[in-house]
Amino acid sequence: MIVIFDLDRTIFDTEKFKEDIAKILNININQYNKDCEKYFTDKKKTYNLYELLRILKSEKRISSIKNNSEKIENLLKNSKRYLFPKATEVLEKFKNRGDKLILISVGPLSWQKKKINSLKIKNYFDRIIILEKEKYKNLDFLKKENDEILIINDNAGETFDMKKAIGKCDVCLICGPYSGNAKHNLKTYNIKDCLKLF
Ligand SMILES: [Mg+2]
Repeated sequence: MIVIFDLDRTIFDTEKFKEDIAKILNININQYNKDCEKYFTDKKKTYNLYELLRILKSEKRISSIKNNSEKIENLLKNSKRYLFPKATEVLEKFKNRGDKLILISVGPLSWQKKKINSLKIKNYFDRIIILEKEKYKNLDFLKKENDEILIINDNAGETFDMKKAIGKCDVCLICGPYSGNAKHNLKTYNIKDCLKLF
């Protein structure tokens, strides 16, 4: 089986990480989320921490980009605490079964790379793909696969677009803020449930 994993909010606790970033920036988490919506979601742009820091600096809400980005990058030195419970065990289980694991993540290349490197999960994956935009447009390499394909992802809309692009595949929807962003009647799970499900 080929298992396609998402990173943010699937194996990585992005919300907890965002809370810690907001604390460093001295911004209330609700305000931080509003800023992210205003500067990225509403503009259909992918979240970019460094761009956000530049905006906050221009609005005189932070005094230094360098100090803050250093502090935030320091969070990544102990980033394993942002992995959801049992996430590593889930990757290990699939890997030990002989499945082919693919990580597909959307975000700024250098930032996603830093995150993935710090999590020490690279060895579980046969392939790691980081994209700036839509995943479903970059899945042609899976169309000719005869193997079963499973997508494990928290974002319902994104997952259904991927499924459509691939053709035949199974979906395990992870519960989170985006697991209801498209109409469906699937049950949602935590990543640790994959230990029992598969
Ligand atoms: Mg995600």
